[in-house]
Amino acid sequence: MTWPPTPEDFQRLRDTLVWVAAQSPYYRRQFEAAGLRPEGLQDYDEFRRRVPLTFKTELVENQRAHPPFGEFLAAPREQFGSLHTSPGPIYIPRLAEERGGTAVLVEAIAAMGVRRGEVAHVTLSYHIMPGGLRLHRAFEEYGCLVVNGGTGASRLQVEVARTWAATVYAGTPSFLAHLGDTAREMGLDPSRHLHYRVGFSTAETLTPALRRELEDTFHIELFDHCGEAQIGPLAGECRVHDGMHLHARDLFCEFLDVETGEPVEPGGTGELVATPLGPRALPLVRYAPRDVFQLLPDACPCGNPALRLRFIGQAGVIRKIKGVLVHPAQVHAVTSAFPELGRFQIVVEQGGRYDRALLRAGTVRAPAEPEALALALAERLKATVLIQMDVELVPETEIPEAAAPPRFGEAIVDRRTKA
Ligand SMILES: [Zn+2]
Repeated sequence: MTWPPTPEDFQRLRDTLVWVAAQSPYYRRQFEAAGLRPEGLQDYDEFRRRVPLTFKTELVENQRAHPPFGEFLAAPREQFGSLHTSPGPIYIPRLAEERGGTAVLVEAIAAMGVRRGEVAHVTLSYHIMPGGLRLHRAFEEYGCLVVNGGTGASRLQVEVARTWAATVYAGTPSFLAHLGDTAREMGLDPSRHLHYRVGFSTAETLTPALRRELEDTFHIELFDHCGEAQIGPLAGECRVHDGMHLHARDLFCEFLDVETGEPVEPGGTGELVATPLGPRALPLVRYAPRDVFQLLPDACPCGNPALRLRFIGQAGVIRKIKGVLVHPAQVHAVTSAFPELGRFQIVVEQGGRYDRALLRAGTVRAPAEPEALALALAERLKATVLIQMDVELVPETEIPEAAAPPRFGEAIVDRRTKA
């Protein structure tokens, strides 16, 4: 689909809703409560105004109340092809004909310039959760020789990657960093003795600092990718490396303002709401994983017309400061480039007509030139997050642990009086 949606996109969505209303007791009840007949929906605007969001907590609670699959279920057990679990726990049955997102992963792999016959080393977990197996299948379908690394056993993984001269890495960036450390412990040079050429980085944020570190360690070209356990793969980078192209072939995606719920145009920042299209064992309608993305405004030089996204962070901790939406993850991307810095906290106060923002940056070791560091940090923040912040360096122990990534629970302290 495209964003904003076309009438054809809406048509596919309505067909799915008609099927879901007929099959899923949970959604039949929801639609009836809203006085809604999906076949009568006129356009996307009416859909957005009348169909409620589904949050992960509702899925978890409903499965707990009606074990094991809950009332979302839309197919009998005999038709399940496989069964995955995601933290919660949430049980995710899949119909045999549901491809589980491998088709769009194959496209993402092609966009990385992977060649058929290359050896791909997949290090996502193959246990319980869907990620490892899904990625494995996609690389196999693309024509790679796939090594099922999984997680852990890092010395053995280094040996296997070396023996088979794996040229493609697929997994989290932190595990790749760990493999680099392990290789060095084994007396190897990661850039010479391992042969990774391209990397599919997923399931964690690839910060600019981590990307540079991994590129230096392995001489690898990394491609950032994001997805979500319930809705599958969402977007991946092309060789331009400026945002991730939305590859929502069987997903109806909406991007909505976190405060008003209104659709956001390319150029803005919005929260993702997704409806998987077509028959599913466990259908979800307007599922909101609480992920916020920036939508890049211009066409990508690579020629792919699909919308490009940049992941900002979780919706719960985002705040509007001086009129700009700020997520602690954006600030973290800046602070993580300075090795002296650890956790931080942003204190927002009302200073007359304008907000005043103070970044209390925790230091993990005493900086050689504190004033220069504070100045460099303030400049980098102004250029990246687009607001002016005062900077104060404090020992990291003064910053609560709950402010730390990836949750950033207490990373923003809002002392403004609410109107
Ligand atoms: Zn592109």
